Amino acid sequence: MTLFISLTETCQKIASTSSRLEKMRILNDFLRKLSREEIKPAINLILGRIAGKGEIKTGISSGIILSALKKVLGDNFKFRDKCKESADLGEYVECLLKSFKPVKQQVFLETTYSLKGIYEVLRKAFLLKGKKSKEKKEEIVASLLTNLTPSESKYLVNIILGDLRIGLEEGTVEQALAKLLNLNIETVKRANMLLGDISETVYLGLTDKKSLLTAKIQLFKPIKPMLAETAENLKEIFDEMHGPVSLEPKLDGARVQIHHSKGKTKIFTRRLSEVTNSLPEIITLTKQEFTSADYIVEGEVVAVSRKGEILPFNYLMRRFRRTKEITEISEKIKLKLFLFDILYYQGKQLIDAPYEQRREKLVGEFGRENVVPALLTKNDKKAEEFFLNCVKEGHEGVMAKNPKSIYEPGKRGKNWLKLKKTLTLDLVIVGAQWGYGRRRKWLSDYFLAVWNESKTDLLIVGKTFKGLTDQEFEWITKKLLEKKLREKGYVVWVKPEIVVETAFNEIQKSKLYPSGYVLRFARIKNIRFDKELKEADTIKEVKKIFETQKKRNLEKIWRSFSA
Ligand code: ATP
Repeated sequence: MTLFISLTETCQKIASTSSRLEKMRILNDFLRKLSREEIKPAINLILGRIAGKGEIKTGISSGIILSALKKVLGDNFKFRDKCKESADLGEYVECLLKSFKPVKQQVFLETTYSLKGIYEVLRKAFLLKGKKSKEKKEEIVASLLTNLTPSESKYLVNIILGDLRIGLEEGTVEQALAKLLNLNIETVKRANMLLGDISETVYLGLTDKKSLLTAKIQLFKPIKPMLAETAENLKEIFDEMHGPVSLEPKLDGARVQIHHSKGKTKIFTRRLSEVTNSLPEIITLTKQEFTSADYIVEGEVVAVSRKGEILPFNYLMRRFRRTKEITEISEKIKLKLFLFDILYYQGKQLIDAPYEQRREKLVGEFGRENVVPALLTKNDKKAEEFFLNCVKEGHEGVMAKNPKSIYEPGKRGKNWLKLKKTLTLDLVIVGAQWGYGRRRKWLSDYFLAVWNESKTDLLIVGKTFKGLTDQEFEWITKKLLEKKLREKGYVVWVKPEIVVETAFNEIQKSKLYPSGYVLRFARIKNIRFDKELKEADTIKEVKKIFETQKKRNLEKIWRSFSA
């Protein structure tokens, strides 16, 4: 039986080196010692994946952790200023537990200290729902903090928050596994993409190496979506794709992956969470209009008004977050599905077929009326016309796809390029200021940050209060107060968790923020519930936009169009 402490010691060692190779060696030494049933819990713990596929809703917030800490420290909690509250809540908890001996509340069975035991306790806590769940979660965290050492508690807290801060990413785990098994990294990556769950990949690798070589898409196990890089203009698209390109409207909706077999349907989001119950009309559509064959298809769901106009992304997210009262909302907000890819059909994996063949199959089996329109062209005038038309119809821009390209799960590459009408970055809210006037009851002026290149630190690139509705201000205020780290004057600094898609006109160099850049005329377009914290943009994208904005002709195209 492996103890939790051996996992936290491994975390400590991994954090203490910046060498990727060394991190891999330490991880592999640890993996070698594990029994079969410990492999998945260990990987999920070490990557902070307890919540499972980014389910913020079911998680334990920093607010719950602080209340639990208060319980554990009793009267000593009032001396909490002894430790500095930093962005690393785990360190803060460790410091306080070290300073004030916790009151023992209950004696643990020895097995609860095991890696597997802790994992199961946390899973149980995460799955708690309903009225009393907050109190119950608090009790669970309090008893863990009472019984673990301060150093174990530090890692426990950061595991719970999904941010271990040890510099270990999924990619490094893949590399470590490839090394351990003496396999090509591409083989491991591909298997991981198809399996869609790194803990499953490591488990299969360590228990049945051959199965990684033959990994296949499985129905009802979501696959990581293929992603697009950003193009600056149409010329870049033609240069990259060398030949005709397939242009599709970039719909402003939410991506879904639909798995169907023997009359049963499941729908997954871009983050691989299941949302079947939130989208009853898509299920009806699959039952009434789609083929009864086995398939996995992808598409974009958009919200449409009663008049049939496409509504902004926010309306859609309202639907995705609720499962109750669906009928009431669905009367107001209709959904429309536009399919754009097919990955599997009747026992056949299609991801290795070129895009043009996949599209033909999609149209053939599902009908042109259910598939997003496309233009195959190598003519730049026709492409520009298509782009302008898409913008006119209210779409975000265009998606350009290389007709000869295969579907590469989880990969952001140049075979799919997106060209948007407005510049946007996905930024993280790290702090907020109380508003004034009408907005005084809300934290409504947000400090927005990008990741540094190694994704270990967040760097502020701007501040804005523009773009959100009153309901959104209200919701964000509530969420931010739950994540509050410290408050100074009018500013509340928070644990980063909310990703917002932010539009802006230009990037300028600035000494105002340590990032060295500031966004001009920033406005929040959408709260990205479908993006994980680590998926926000990095300073690399900021620099790229800064460097290329002078050459940008996209703005020109847009201006000539709107003139
Ligand atoms: P964004 O924030 O721009 O939506 P993203 O990071 O979610 O991007 P990207 O791969 O960069 O994902 O952009 C592709 C996304 O655009 C898809 O995930 C999908 O949700 C959406 N989309 C809209 N229309 C299409 C289309 N025709 N083909 C593929 N994806 C589309």
